[in-house]
Amino acid sequence: MSSKTLDKFLNDNLAELKANGLYNEIDPVQGANGPIIHINGKNLINLSSNNYLGLATDERLKQVAKDAVDSHGAGAGAVRTINGTLDLHIELEKKLAEFKGTEAVISYQSGFNCNMAAISAVMDKHDAILSDELNHASIIDGCRLSKAKIIRFAHSDMDDLRLKAKEAVESGQYNKIMVITDGVFSMDGDIAKLPEIVEIAEEFDLITYVDDAHGSGVLGKGAGTVKHFGLQDKVDFQMGTLSKAIGVIGGYVAGKANLIDWLKVRSRPFLFSTAVSPADAAASKKAIEILMESTELHDKLWENGNYLKDGLKKLGFDIGNSETPITPCIIGEEKAAQEFSKRLFEEGVYAKSIVFPTVPRGTGRVRNMPTAAHTKEMLDEAIQVYEKVGKEMGLI
Ligand code: PMP
Repeated sequence: MSSKTLDKFLNDNLAELKANGLYNEIDPVQGANGPIIHINGKNLINLSSNNYLGLATDERLKQVAKDAVDSHGAGAGAVRTINGTLDLHIELEKKLAEFKGTEAVISYQSGFNCNMAAISAVMDKHDAILSDELNHASIIDGCRLSKAKIIRFAHSDMDDLRLKAKEAVESGQYNKIMVITDGVFSMDGDIAKLPEIVEIAEEFDLITYVDDAHGSGVLGKGAGTVKHFGLQDKVDFQMGTLSKAIGVIGGYVAGKANLIDWLKVRSRPFLFSTAVSPADAAASKKAIEILMESTELHDKLWENGNYLKDGLKKLGFDIGNSETPITPCIIGEEKAAQEFSKRLFEEGVYAKSIVFPTVPRGTGRVRNMPTAAHTKEMLDEAIQVYEKVGKEMGLI
């Protein structure tokens, strides 16, 4: 028999979410997550995956993943610090360090647990973290886990950051102070003001942490936001994921050797959770090699991103302040954003609505993620559907 209190808690809260348009249905994808996806027997132009470069379905990655299963098996078998560190994990980390231009890299099972692991391994209750108010949930959770004082600064507002950094230093209350930001903000596609952040960090001796989940593979000819600004020597933690542009799964921190050494002995998912599978490690390494060999996929991503963006802007949609291929269509009211997404689906476009709590209330949107794998024909078709549904709903 289940607990009555639990049942009441669950049923009341689920009903409230549904009534307010805040409950997201999950649609399973039948088959691969490519530029065209199959859901409920329908073929749809996919504008909702983070597979920026199309690598998730790349034949070269698929082949090395199959080979790794043959040579190393299906699973890593243990946590990294016992005997789950396979040669493939070391090769991946070396390749990533080369790619990022840092002394060393530590990899984790996901970007989410990387943030949980790395922030809490370095910061504690005697410290403070200056965190952009729009930072990703995994940063927020990593900060909370560390028990450091969290001081939010207004989104990309450098005056606010400077003021709060000064106050924190002058209070004399904290041993260490970190500033942490997304490199690219995933819901709006804008880029962090890293040159100013680094300048403020130098002035106040702040530790710098950049979550580049959406910048890696996209900015800096693929190497990320820090490279985009030429700040490789000025950022302590270059965090990234292997799950978006890289097309596989995993997270990592690139930085100086002493930092990576410390994370290897102190970050709990590295110590207590099994390593990623051989196929994941081998495919991720192959993806990095592809990015290091050529900017072809990166260039195609930008071409497609600009094409879709121009098309939607010309139709009169509010695409916010995006500076990257991420293209939001900001609708406002949550239910309207969900209805818009539903109508796009019916017309053959998969562009998921994003609502509170992922974005602030009243800024519900449909977020588009064009990739290098889309063709011009697919994007034209999507733009036509946007026009039809946008006019029908009185949005444009
Ligand atoms: N950071 C940011 C900014 C993200 O957008 C995400 C994924 N949504 C993550 C971290 C977590 O990465 P992963 O999916 O690899 O766990």
